[in-house]
Amino acid sequence: MNAPTLESPPSAVGAARLLDGRALALQVRARVAAEVAERIAHGGQAPGLAVVLVGEDPASQVYVRHKIKACEEAGIRSYSHRLDAQASEEALLELIDRLNRDPQVDGILVQLPLPAQINVQRVLARIRPGKDVDGFHAENLGRLAAGFPALRPCTPKGCMRLLDSAQIDCRGKLAVVVGASNIVGRPMALELLSAEATVLIAHKQTRDLPALVRQADILVVATGVPGLIRGEWIKPGAVVIDVGINRLGDGSLTGDVCFQEARERAAWITPVPGGVGPMTIACLLENTLEAAQNAVFIPV
Ligand code: NDP
Repeated sequence: MNAPTLESPPSAVGAARLLDGRALALQVRARVAAEVAERIAHGGQAPGLAVVLVGEDPASQVYVRHKIKACEEAGIRSYSHRLDAQASEEALLELIDRLNRDPQVDGILVQLPLPAQINVQRVLARIRPGKDVDGFHAENLGRLAAGFPALRPCTPKGCMRLLDSAQIDCRGKLAVVVGASNIVGRPMALELLSAEATVLIAHKQTRDLPALVRQADILVVATGVPGLIRGEWIKPGAVVIDVGINRLGDGSLTGDVCFQEARERAAWITPVPGGVGPMTIACLLENTLEAAQNAVFIPV
């Protein structure tokens, strides 16, 4: 059977194919591990990622653990730095300055969110752009906006990898991105624009979200509102990427799209969990390797 395409909407109920982030992430991680091993075999040093966690947020602790474990499996050295929840912005900036100078550290990741006394933008701006493996520094976002990206934000990059893996051509398609945060929605829209889609971005002030979503050939949702997007809003044959990760009262995880409803109309859809999440970590490893390969030692 041929894969459904954007031009041939699925006719059968529940026909959407899954964009399997777990499987693709394993491939990306295996490739990164092989390139790291090759680098070391040629006398290079293992790439190093510094992971900075401020405070005790339980979800952040889980994310950080996953990232450190993924590094170990890929042969990337990780350096864990923990500051307590009352740490001052000055203390965090000093730590970043030290990591910027450290030649063992190729990538610096500051886990968000940060406690209220710390200004996130000042912190992100302090990370040397070449070590900004999250891709959140204004220079990296600006390069993405200008069409000559360097280190790209991991989640949108992971979404693009998922589209590529299914040979979904974005050119000329109408893409709707619901959510406009600096870490997901905005860079996602820029990625889709670079892939020559026509892009619309929705946020809380958007009027008539269902009407907008109904036009989308490619829909990316990153709002943090569980089940915001109803299946009946989905254009038949659309590609649906659900970035949302929301924990329900019973402990289960769910996305921002009503999955069971949406899969009856979409051609392709990401599951939650097992869609975008694993790709974010895989792209973080990829970015760390890229940062190491491009590293220039600049004494500060
Ligand atoms: P933010 O809270 O920073 O941004 C949410 C965005 O969604 C904002 O632009 C907001 O609009 C918009 N929004 C909220 N409610 C609505 C609504 N009812 N209608 C339209 N737009 C709305 O969240 P993040 O971008 O950080 O994260 C979004 C989701 O993605 C979360 O569930 C998060 O857990 C998940 N996530 C998943 C990752 C992964 O690896 N899979 C990585 C990062 C995040 P406005 O700008 O007007 O406030």
